[in-house]
Amino acid sequence: MAAHCVKTENPWRLGGADVDCLDMKTTDVLLIGAGPIGLEMAVALQEAGYEYVHLEARQVAHTISWFPKQARFFSSPERIAICGVPLRTLDQSKATREEYISYLLGIVQQFGLQIRTYERVTRVSPCEGEYRYEVETSCPYGGETYRARHVIFTIGDMHGPRPLTLDGETPVEGTNLPHVSSYFDEPHPYFGRKLLIVGGRNSAAEAAVRCYRAGAQVALSYRRSELDSSIKYWLKPEIEWLIRHDEIKFFPQTVPSRISRTHVTLSPVGDDLAIIPDSDFDEAFDFILLLIGYRMDGSLLARTGVELEGASQTPNHDPTTMETNLSGVYMAGTAAAGTQLRFKLFIENCHAHVVRIMRHLGSKDPTHINPLAYTDLKRRSLIAES
Ligand SMILES: Cc1cc2nc3c(=O)[nH]c(=O)nc-3n(C[C@H](O)[C@H](O)[C@H](O)COP(=O)(O)OP(=O)(O)OC[C@H]3O[C@@H](n4cnc5c(N)ncnc54)[C@H](O)[C@@H]3O)c2cc1C
Repeated sequence: MAAHCVKTENPWRLGGADVDCLDMKTTDVLLIGAGPIGLEMAVALQEAGYEYVHLEARQVAHTISWFPKQARFFSSPERIAICGVPLRTLDQSKATREEYISYLLGIVQQFGLQIRTYERVTRVSPCEGEYRYEVETSCPYGGETYRARHVIFTIGDMHGPRPLTLDGETPVEGTNLPHVSSYFDEPHPYFGRKLLIVGGRNSAAEAAVRCYRAGAQVALSYRRSELDSSIKYWLKPEIEWLIRHDEIKFFPQTVPSRISRTHVTLSPVGDDLAIIPDSDFDEAFDFILLLIGYRMDGSLLARTGVELEGASQTPNHDPTTMETNLSGVYMAGTAAAGTQLRFKLFIENCHAHVVRIMRHLGSKDPTHINPLAYTDLKRRSLIAES
C-alpha cells in the first residue's frame, strides 16, 4: 500500500489544500472516471484504506452535465443514490440533472475525495515489476506518468454521438453544419423556429415535447413506423397525442439523407430500414437535432489490451469479479457494457460492480454504498444456485 511521493504542481486538482505534494507516481489503484460509479468506487477504496489516484478527463459528473437542462432521470432517486447517502429531491419525484449534479458534488466534499479533474488518461500499458501498469495522462499543464498495481475503468459509455449515416458507414452530408447538433441543451434557441428532431427514443421524444411547449414548430423523423417502446411511461402518451393532433409533425420510416442550410432531404425507408429509391422529399428547417444515441470510445481500452467484443464493443470481463482479460484491470459502471444498443446497465445495477471489485481485491465489503449493490448480488447468487 506504500506510495512514492513526488512533488508535482497540479492547479487542477480537486479537494484538499495540499496541491503541491501528491503520493502519486506509484499507487495501488488508478481509478479512471468520476461519474457516479467512479465516485462510489473511490469511496469504497478510501474506506478500505487503499492508496489510489483518481483521474477525470473533464469535471466530476461530466456525462450528467451535458444532459438537457432540467431533464429528469428515469430512475428513482433511491436507485441512483450512491455511497449510502440519501438523495432527496425538491418535489419527491425523480431527480433533475441539476439536483443530481449538486448531490454528486456534495458526495465529493462529504468524503473529501481527491480527484484530479481535467486530467485525461491517454495510455495504459503493462510494465515490469510490482506496479504492473504504466498510465500516461494529458492535462492543461502537460501530463503525468503513473505506475499502478491495479487500474479500474469507470469511464462510462457515452463519449460521443452516434454518427448519422446512410448505410451504417457513409456519413450524411451536412451533419457538420452549424445549425445541426447532437446535443439538446434547452428549448429556448428554437422558439418560433422550425426544428427537425431525428430519433424516436426517449431523448428525441423528450426534446420534441419540450421544444413544442417552448414555442418551436417541431417535426420528428424516425426510421421506424412507431416511436420506441422504451420512452418514459409518462411521456409516451403525451407525444403520441401531440402527433395525433398534428401539433408535432411525425415523419415515420424516414431518414435524413442530405442536410443543407435551409432544407433536409428525407428518404423513406422500408421495414428493413433500406432507403426506398426515388421517393425522397425536401422539408425546410431552421435547426436539426440528431438525437439518435451516443457511443463509447473504446480506443483507450483497445490500446490497453482489453478485448472488445461484438457490435457493442463490450470490454471482455468476468462479471463475477469485473476483472478484464488483463489481470488487475477492472471495469465498473456503464463502461462494462460497451456501447449500449439496448440499455442493460444503468446506475442502479452498477453499484454491485464496486462490491465485486473490492472482494476481488481482497477487501471487506464496503459499507458506504447503495444497498441495492447487495440486493443485486444476492439475487444473482440465487439465480446461479438454482
Ligand atoms: C438524458 C439522459 C438521461 C439519462 N437517464 C438515466 C437514468 O434515468 N438512469 C440511469 O441509470 N442512467 C441514465 N442515463 C445514463 C447515465 O448518464 C449513466 O447511467 C451514468 O452517467 C453512468 O455512470 P458511470 O459512472 O458509469 O459513467 P459516467 O457518468 O459516464 O462517467 C464516466 C466519467 O469518465 C470520464 N472519462 C472518460 N474517459 C476518460 C479518460 N480517458 N480519462 C479520464 N476520465 C475519463 C468522463 O469524463 C466521465 O466523467 C441518462 C443519460 C442521458 C444522456
